[in-house]
Parts: sequence; structure tokens; C-alpha cells
Amino acid sequence: MDPVIRIENLQKEYETDAGPVPVLKGMDLSIYPGEFLSIMGPSGSGKSTFMNILGCLDVPTAGKYFLSGRDVGTLNSDQLAKLRNEVIGFVFQGFNLLPRANLEDNVALPLVYCNVQKAERAERARGMLDKVGLAKYPESFPNQISGGQQQRVAIARALVNRPELILADEPTGNLDTKTSGEIMHLFRQLNEEGITIVLVTHEPDIATYAKRLVKFLDGRLIYDGEVSEAHS
Ligand code: ADP
Ligand code: MG
Repeated sequence: MDPVIRIENLQKEYETDAGPVPVLKGMDLSIYPGEFLSIMGPSGSGKSTFMNILGCLDVPTAGKYFLSGRDVGTLNSDQLAKLRNEVIGFVFQGFNLLPRANLEDNVALPLVYCNVQKAERAERARGMLDKVGLAKYPESFPNQISGGQQQRVAIARALVNRPELILADEPTGNLDTKTSGEIMHLFRQLNEEGITIVLVTHEPDIATYAKRLVKFLDGRLIYDGEVSEAHS
């Protein structure tokens, strides 16, 4: 089976006034279809930088990134946007919903960029709200629902393009323990349906929902293996 994600000697430096700062110092990793991977590491270890590169929101300084077998470094911006739309759904810590759009319109938003017609957009958005347990509230606005419900809407939005991969950067970072567990159950259910999941967390309890754990320290990969063994 070919990996969904393959990176080879991935490096990232940020240019600052004090000179270049290396943040990712040569990483190699393959992630296969159906995996559920947690990434842990201290604050500043490069997790978000790494996720932004996987999500094609940022580019590496050196190294290779293959997404769904395509060498991302060789694509122009249109090709990259298309590939990203087709393959990846993104979930963020802060939900990132549009405050003035109702829930259905928030979920349907990615379809606007794919030229899906209005009636089909509405139907697919409602289907995804149903999937995350919010079918009753399509016309509510983000500020009328709880944080956990907002994250469910964000997950519905990430799913609406039927991606094979979900990238989630600290998706439970703003949620209480019980709500975090509910969100993780939803991710696990999606994974059981075949979606590949890569999730960043700094909470060991959250990481245990995954099947595989990777640990970062100072821009390097220092552990890759079983979730349980890493905590023993
Ligand atoms: P994490 O998500 O693991 O907390 P980040 O990837 O956000 O880590 O950051 C890794 C390091 O890169 C940190 O030291 C951070 O200060 C630095 N960094 C992140 N973004 C930038 C940027 N745009 N310019 C300069 N340094 C940055
Ligand atoms: Mg981060």
C-alpha cells in the first residue's frame, strides 16, 4: 500500500532578524491509509510547523513531501490548492468558524471553492452536520452553541469534501475533559470508517485514542511506535 504522506529529510528554518532559526531538523516519516497517528512534544518542538507543511499551508526549507504520491514541491499553486482540497480536511484548536455564517453555511464553505452547486452544497452540509450529531441546528450561529459543538461543526466542515486525511492541530486544546473525550470518540469513529487521522496533542490521555504515536523534541523525531509503550 502506498503512503498517504511520505516525508524525507524534511527541514524548516524561519528567517528572523537574528538570522535563520532551524525548527524542523531533518524528519523522515510515512503515514499509511487508515492510520491514526498522534504527535506529541513540548511547546515549541515544531508540531504546528510540521502540520502546516503537511497541510500545504507552508513550505519546507529542504527535503521532500509526497502527498497521495504527488511530490508537493513540484506543483504550482493551482495544482496544490486542488490536491489539498481533494485530500485534506483541517481541524484547528480554535475551531475557526465564520461567526456571521450559520452552521450549514460554515460546513458548506469548502464546497464553494469546488464549484459544487448550491442545492448539493446544502444537502452535503446537512448530511455532515447529521454525522457529527448536530442535524437539529443548521441555522444556528457559532456563538449560539458550545465549544464542543463548534468543534463538531469544524469537523463536519473538514469532512464535507470527503477527504482521505484529517489533520487536527490540538483539536481538544480549548475543551474540557468530557467534551474532549466525545470529540476523540468522533475521530476514532471516522478512523474506523477508513479516514487517516494525524492529530497533535500535548495530553497523554488524548494521544491514547490513536494507534501510533510520534514524539517530537527540538525539531526532531525521537519516538515512533506504540501508544501504550511510550507511557510505560
Ligand atoms: P509547537 O506547535 O510544537 O508548539 P511551533 O511549530 O509552533 O511549535 O514552533 C516551533 C518553533 O518555531 C518555536 O520556537 C517558534 O517560536 C518558532 N516559530 C514558529 N513560527 C515562526 C515564525 N513564523 N517565525 C519565526 N519563528 C517561528
Ligand atoms: Mg502548536
